[in-house]
Amino acid sequence: MLRKNELLEIKELLEEMNREILKNLDERIKSNDMSDQREIGDIFDDADLEQSREFNLLLTTRERQKLDQIESALAKIEKGEYGYCEDCDESIPVGRLKAMPFATLCVKCKSERESMEGTPSAYVEEKG
Ligand SMILES: [Zn+2]
Repeated sequence: MLRKNELLEIKELLEEMNREILKNLDERIKSNDMSDQREIGDIFDDADLEQSREFNLLLTTRERQKLDQIESALAKIEKGEYGYCEDCDESIPVGRLKAMPFATLCVKCKSERESMEGTPSAYVEEKG
């Protein structure tokens, strides 16, 4: 079970990761001489970040996935659901969460899923 200060720490980590991705994006825009496009400052200030189509187009798939993970972790924090394994509902150790703030599975379930990688999804659904 996470203490409030631990939760805040993780929230900051997530927000920092978010900023890091946006910063990389900013640098990419500048290096691509797209400076006459929308200013990155506007994107930062945009509350509906993910709804900005041009913003999404500039992201790599990996970055978008990461932003999605960060976003859903932040949403879970808001709802007080953060820190529990999606598969077994056990609480995820705080050390793991600090190392991987958007982890949604405990180590055990994560390695189980990884060992199942490549198996048909029907099998996975049956297990769940
Ligand atoms: Zn688990």
